[in-house]
Amino acid sequence: MRVNENILISSLTTMRLGGPARYVLEVESPSDVSDAYGFAAQFGMPTFILGYGANTIGHDEGFPGAIIINRMQGITDEVLPDGTIKVKVMGGEYWDNVVEYTTNKGLTGIEALSKIPGLAGAAPVQNIGAYGQEIASTLESIEVYDTTSSTFKTLTHDDLNFSYRHSILNTTESGRYFVISITLVLKPGEMPRPFYNSIETYIKDHNITDFSPKSIREIVSAIRADKLPDPLKQASAGSFFKNIYLKDEEVDDAYDKGYPVHRGKDGNKINSGWLIDKAGLAGLTLHGFKISEKAPLVLINESATGYNDLASARAEITSKVYDKFGYWLEQEPVEIFYEEPER
Ligand SMILES: Cc1cc2nc3c(=O)[nH]c(=O)nc-3n(C[C@H](O)[C@H](O)[C@H](O)COP(=O)(O)OP(=O)(O)OC[C@H]3O[C@@H](n4cnc5c(N)ncnc54)[C@H](O)[C@@H]3O)c2cc1C
Repeated sequence: MRVNENILISSLTTMRLGGPARYVLEVESPSDVSDAYGFAAQFGMPTFILGYGANTIGHDEGFPGAIIINRMQGITDEVLPDGTIKVKVMGGEYWDNVVEYTTNKGLTGIEALSKIPGLAGAAPVQNIGAYGQEIASTLESIEVYDTTSSTFKTLTHDDLNFSYRHSILNTTESGRYFVISITLVLKPGEMPRPFYNSIETYIKDHNITDFSPKSIREIVSAIRADKLPDPLKQASAGSFFKNIYLKDEEVDDAYDKGYPVHRGKDGNKINSGWLIDKAGLAGLTLHGFKISEKAPLVLINESATGYNDLASARAEITSKVYDKFGYWLEQEPVEIFYEEPER
């Protein structure tokens, strides 16, 4: 285990906000994980699990405890009797390396999840999704350290109770399980058509006839490079707001008002980026955060001086969208902070 002291959370997260963390513990083996929790318990410190920090926001006062990061690497695969391929990935692998590895082998299932920044261990937490795929569709199980019982366990797909941007790991059991590895089941072949609209448009515009996983990866990478900020060059947490999912009884009203409701396998959705754009906010800079013109769900930290700037920008955006459309936008990224328990 590597023990680091007083590390700025802004240096560990792609939105680049946040004061110092007392300790950052980088774990390189399962036994390191239990040691890390033992270390924090010894000093009575709170803990927070961090990956690449692409979906996490720090606060100015930092974190008085131990941030624990999975640094375990490795990808292995095994052909199953039915011809599908089981791929086991250690949680510290960079997610896009996993997509590169599997698409190079001609495996379908996660090619549309290309270029999502983050570590593999975080991928099931919010059930990463993009361009018509989500990790829940191919995830078989995860190995975890259960901080409640201090034991190692395997949780299956069904245990995780996946839905849009949710699993038990960020809802009912948030912070309880440290993901050590994830296991996917993929198959040789191609993604079923029709593809997501923007992929279909790209294919048409570029006369593409190769729909292999590797080709879809290249297409998705090109679409993303044109639209989304590169975390190494521009500070953001990707989509700052979740899309709006409507209950069945809300759909007719939204249609009557002329809002674009997408009916999909995962429910009836309004793209929150559309709401932000139509509220006249896309392209504006509020409190140091630019609302991306090409992807209005994305806030780019251009010159914010602290968390309060983000809170002010968020309040302006959510209230303008609510006033115009009657929907409250919900924040996607999680936040690292510590509140003293009441005595
Ligand atoms: C430019 C950009 C584009 C993005 N595009 C997409 C997109 O298309 N689709 C999408 O779904 N997301 C997208 N995101 C969000 C982000 O990439 C994903 O949420 C990703 O999974 C975050 O991984 P991470 O390692 O950075 O997680 P972190 O931000 O470090 O952590 C996220 C959450 O996971 C928990 N966690 C992390 N590691 C573990 C572990 N080993 N065990 C248990 N819990 C853990 C943390 O406690 C935290 O709650 C984007 C972000 C950016 C910056």
